[in-house]
Amino acid sequence: MSLFSTHSFANEKALIRVDFNVPLDKQTYAIGDDNRMRAAIPTITKILKEGGSVILMSHLGRPKDGPETKSSLIHIVGHLQSLVSAAMNKEVIVQFANDCIGEEATQKSANLKAGEVLLLENLRFYKEEEKGDAAFAQKLSKLGDVYVNDAFGTAHRAHASTAVIAQFFEKGKKMFGLLMEGEVKAAELVLHKAEKPFTAIIGGAKVSDKILIIENLLNRATDIIIGGGMAYTFMKAQGGHIGKSLCEEDRIDTALEILKKAAEKGVNIHLPSDSIVADNFAADANTSTAPSNAIPDGWMGLDIGPNACEQFANAIKKSKTILWNGPMGVFEMEKFQHGTKTIAIAVAEATANGAFSLVGGGDSVAAVNQFGFTDKVSYVSTGGGAMLEYFEGKVLPGIAAISE
Ligand code: AMP
Repeated sequence: MSLFSTHSFANEKALIRVDFNVPLDKQTYAIGDDNRMRAAIPTITKILKEGGSVILMSHLGRPKDGPETKSSLIHIVGHLQSLVSAAMNKEVIVQFANDCIGEEATQKSANLKAGEVLLLENLRFYKEEEKGDAAFAQKLSKLGDVYVNDAFGTAHRAHASTAVIAQFFEKGKKMFGLLMEGEVKAAELVLHKAEKPFTAIIGGAKVSDKILIIENLLNRATDIIIGGGMAYTFMKAQGGHIGKSLCEEDRIDTALEILKKAAEKGVNIHLPSDSIVADNFAADANTSTAPSNAIPDGWMGLDIGPNACEQFANAIKKSKTILWNGPMGVFEMEKFQHGTKTIAIAVAEATANGAFSLVGGGDSVAAVNQFGFTDKVSYVSTGGGAMLEYFEGKVLPGIAAISE
């Protein structure tokens, strides 16, 4: 059992680092996608139900020079209140402190009673937050009795509220929240306890963004599927003709190096044998099918083709562990989403047959949501950059600070 699950929060003030960095409308400040807020609700309600109180701290946007209206967390108070009230089945008032440290925050948190919630103003109104300033972190730490980190999306940052603050709480008084716990558990399972065959599906636009993750996975996966725009650099590296498909000339040697290492380690690299090609990067482009290594001049590969779909789906369906990061094509356009959809179906089928599947990284998560497959995979990560860095083999400061 985890520390968070077994800890009793009765009469404690829990200082929770959440990720409420939600998109706000530029004019009305209405919240666009509230998934990040919803994701924190189970952690908040567990504490409230046990008779604890909750102090929430987050960043929002990228304020440059101190406080600014468009990045104020005051815009989300009303919605937060309705989410918490709905989850608690009673009205819960969410109080707000106009500054995350200082007199008002100190007073309001000191006066907080069991079952009450306080939201602090944007942490990034202070430069000290991103600098990981210890004195600032210490001031924040004074507001709560126990520190809960539930912001996996910022776990790869050594900021004051995500990592540095942990040193001011004793062992047993610092822990992951439920969201963070779930993310860490899923990620650890895939990286360290993967049942084989373990297939990693890596897609997206650029090889350069995914080199580190591929290199780390070469030591762990049995199969690596490479799709999306990055596949064409590999095709060209092997002497293929790729028309005007995406290609990173300066990564051709890297692609060859990856193929060589994979062969040495006995990892199967799957590249798309064919592609859906288009005469233009546009939703209404003319399309055709071509071998991925023989794309006619003037055409570009924008999705994996029918043979590649079959080839990739077969590998996926044999897997016991699946990691998916990055789409197989330009899934934002209907003509080029078939490949990504086929992969989603294959991952769902493997999951139904007992495989553990983790989807992580912004665009594959968006694709899985868009196609309605969120509930058909084992875990969908909320932390794009953090998950990527985890799979690159890096130590995430937000995790290390709690685990130490
Ligand atoms: P990433 O953020 O690296 O995972 O890349 C995601 C982006 O890659 C999406 O916006 C896709 O439209 C784009 N993408 C995927 N396949 C291709 C392709 N064959 N050509 C150009 N862009 C692609």
